[in-house]
Amino acid sequence: MPKVDCYEVLGVTRSATEDELKKAYRKLALKYHPDRNQGDKAAEEKFKEVSEAYEILSDADKRAAYDRFGHAAFGPGSRGFGGGGGLHDPFDIFKQVFGGMGGVFGDFFSAGSSDGTQAGSDLRYDMQITFEQAAFGCEKEISIRREEECETCQGSGASPGTSMIRCTQCGGRGQTTTQRGFFMVSQTCSRCRGTGHVIEKPCKTCGGNGLIEKTAKINIRVPGGVENGMRLRSSGNGDSGVRGGSAGDLYVVIHVQEHEIFKRDGEAIYCEVPISYTLAALGGELEVPTLDGNARLKIPHGTQSGTLFRLKGRGVRSLDGHGQGDQHVRVIVEVPMKLNAEQRKKLEEFAKSCNEDVFPMQKSFFERVKRVFQGAPH
Ligand SMILES: [Zn+2]
Ligand SMILES: [Zn+2]
Repeated sequence: MPKVDCYEVLGVTRSATEDELKKAYRKLALKYHPDRNQGDKAAEEKFKEVSEAYEILSDADKRAAYDRFGHAAFGPGSRGFGGGGGLHDPFDIFKQVFGGMGGVFGDFFSAGSSDGTQAGSDLRYDMQITFEQAAFGCEKEISIRREEECETCQGSGASPGTSMIRCTQCGGRGQTTTQRGFFMVSQTCSRCRGTGHVIEKPCKTCGGNGLIEKTAKINIRVPGGVENGMRLRSSGNGDSGVRGGSAGDLYVVIHVQEHEIFKRDGEAIYCEVPISYTLAALGGELEVPTLDGNARLKIPHGTQSGTLFRLKGRGVRSLDGHGQGDQHVRVIVEVPMKLNAEQRKKLEEFAKSCNEDVFPMQKSFFERVKRVFQGAPH
């Protein structure tokens, strides 16, 4: 199988600097590391390819040989690179670059490795939205303060034109050894934090940590159907990582304002609408508010107080984007409270004309009472 070009594998130009190579390797090695891609053969191949490319290009002699002879310089039978021209185990390369922590892979992403990389922090933003925006979704531009890569030093922390120099405290080994009684104790060097090198002249813009606080404007798309307290993740929009570490995420916590008319339960919305005693008795049409303009509701004659009506598809949009809930309208029958003399007279006439069949609920209730208290046979 023909080998892929080392520069292409790392996605760098032929004039890439040591730092650029390292940065490219870091990114790809983390992406394809077998611990992160359990059982994925293609990823494993990729991981090997990336390691090999980095090993060759990061070593000045090997890179020169590669530039002249290509992969042939390292294949079986090639001379010059320690018999057989074999390259290192990809995991050794990984350890060299990320520091020799033997622990679980996850360590590389949390506290930062002994090479000075550090993942950026996750950020939280609290967003207020209206009831309607939650129901139908919206797009909002927000401003956040976050740590971004310093443009002056491109995140390296070193003043432009200067570079990293070997740490004098540990002699570049990243570890210091001290005698404690009979024991020699090895510790991560406190000056270079295990990286073996320190910045010669810190960048003036960021003070040497490679990051600088900035205001960023970010567009957040809020999907219809979100509920109060939900968190939306905006991947990679948190603080930038230190020296090539991965960026954190931004979590947007949703706060939905209450509505004066509607209550919500999932995709369904509810409201109560008072209707007149006569409309309930005679039937007719009623105009009711919805989230999306008014709708007409048919009220059959003889509608009781508390009856629920359904307006299909007038509720909240479904979070998965398919469909929409319903609106439920509970009617509350309003009994007339202030009658003038004439109205009162008419109502009294109406009452006199009523026999028990006009109020069947009342009739059946008192029949039941009679049965229960007088022991009539069932
Ligand atoms: Zn800087
Ligand atoms: Zn040191």
